[in-house]
Amino acid sequence: MGLIFEPVVTPTVAVVDSEDRIPVRRIFCIGRNYAAHAREMGKDPDRDPPFFFLKPADAVVEDGATIPYPPQTENFHYEAELVAVIGKGGVDIAEADALDHVWGYAVGNDLTRRDLQLKAREQGRPWDLGKGFDRSAPIAPVHPVSKVGHPSKGFIKLTVNGEVKQEADLAELIWSIPEMISILSHSMELMPGDLIMTGTPAGVGPLAVGDVCVVEVEGLGTCTTTIGPKA
Ligand code: MN
Repeated sequence: MGLIFEPVVTPTVAVVDSEDRIPVRRIFCIGRNYAAHAREMGKDPDRDPPFFFLKPADAVVEDGATIPYPPQTENFHYEAELVAVIGKGGVDIAEADALDHVWGYAVGNDLTRRDLQLKAREQGRPWDLGKGFDRSAPIAPVHPVSKVGHPSKGFIKLTVNGEVKQEADLAELIWSIPEMISILSHSMELMPGDLIMTGTPAGVGPLAVGDVCVVEVEGLGTCTTTIGPKA
């Protein structure tokens, strides 16, 4: 069998202190997982079942990269997030077993074309073009669980040009990482290389050309993204 087109090279993310990289399968993202952010988005925080959306695997961007300001938006936002990396797949994973499926953790930025997302939300349409556009997922090198354990508290913080815009604690997550993994695995079979972006705290806001955006999570380092001119 031949292939009509060259197959896409599997997107990968870096691993701290390693030449090896993680092949990315899918990027799951959870919506409204910090109460204060749910409120700033005009929604009541609650324990209704969480909802998820996806970004394409090839939306990943290296730490330190400059990305062009994306097209078709006037309101391009940052979102600081903790990222969990699935290392062992499974279906119907029990909460009590869920952390056994995590290979490591990283710092990420759920870049968002907020105007497109909110318009889609109002119209009851999918979020893909607001959330899953090119270069919408900067992810810093992954720290293995063997080195950092499973962070359940500690600061998460984001600055733009050195000014603090988001600051919260991982303990404030509405849905914990074991809960998110268990819930997702009852809907889809999780696979090694799946990433889960675990939601952003309050304080989301716009990025402009020339901005330097730095996300930091306690114990996991930083993820820096610079916004370049429109391509
Ligand atoms: Mn997000």
